[in-house]
Amino acid sequence: MPDDGDGRFHFSDEYVPLARSAQSVAHKLMPIFYDTHAHLDYPDFASDLPQVIERAQAAGITKIISIGTDVASSQRAIQLSERFSQVFAAVGWHPAHALEAPDDLRPALRELARHPKVVAIGETGLDNHRLPSAKAGGAADDERYQRKQAQIFEQQLEVAAESGLNCVVHQRDALEATLAMMQKFAGRVRGQFHCFADDAAAMRRIVTMGSLVSFTGIVTFKSAQNVRDALAATPLDRFMLETDCPYLAPAPYRGKRCEPAHVREIAAMVAQVKGCTLEDLSAASCKAASGFFPKLK
Ligand SMILES: [Zn+2]
Repeated sequence: MPDDGDGRFHFSDEYVPLARSAQSVAHKLMPIFYDTHAHLDYPDFASDLPQVIERAQAAGITKIISIGTDVASSQRAIQLSERFSQVFAAVGWHPAHALEAPDDLRPALRELARHPKVVAIGETGLDNHRLPSAKAGGAADDERYQRKQAQIFEQQLEVAAESGLNCVVHQRDALEATLAMMQKFAGRVRGQFHCFADDAAAMRRIVTMGSLVSFTGIVTFKSAQNVRDALAATPLDRFMLETDCPYLAPAPYRGKRCEPAHVREIAAMVAQVKGCTLEDLSAASCKAASGFFPKLK
């Protein structure tokens, strides 16, 4: 029998969605989505995080993964996962900060990865977009930077393999090297190639090796037809959704602070490109995320 809660509802038809409040009725009808990549520990959210989480919940974004970019940021992500039931954490060290990383990152990461709400290692990967030589450095600085990125990427893949977790992968202008590194861990660790902004050919190589891609608000940008083309070619069960907030707010919020609630605008565009319903997209993208992040419960 349906629970009529406060006594104001008396439904006899078992097919009518029932709940204790109008809000939870709305939730049962609303397709739900996950934000699989958010930087909730960034100062951008320091003043209103509870409201940000509430807006996400009201928009049907029921799970959010807060991503670590170094050890301190990873610890903050874990603290947020302890404070908010819908928040989970990924622990890792971003390639852009590679030079500040300890020589051996593994002991600290192993420790953090044991936490019940740590669902992945990352974000980690390779980024050749802004090399030291583009600023003041020379070729030797580039080499040192790239070597350190590769070293901590490999360490993070090792910890992922040991912990039974997958990796959140940041890759920019370094696809070949990233795929080669992932290949060493084939069958043990898969990657979520987050903020995917490459073409369909790159997507196919990633998916063929068992990894997944995930799409941000970039899919709503007018200039991003190539990303929509890649999305159109991506099988429905091989991608996830994310904001990468506070960055990359989708239209119509472009340029403003992004937040997890904006997964709805991303989902609307993705459903349009895929020619599917929001319900189908909800089911497929949540299933892809649950399969990829085994501790996302
Ligand atoms: Zn990120």
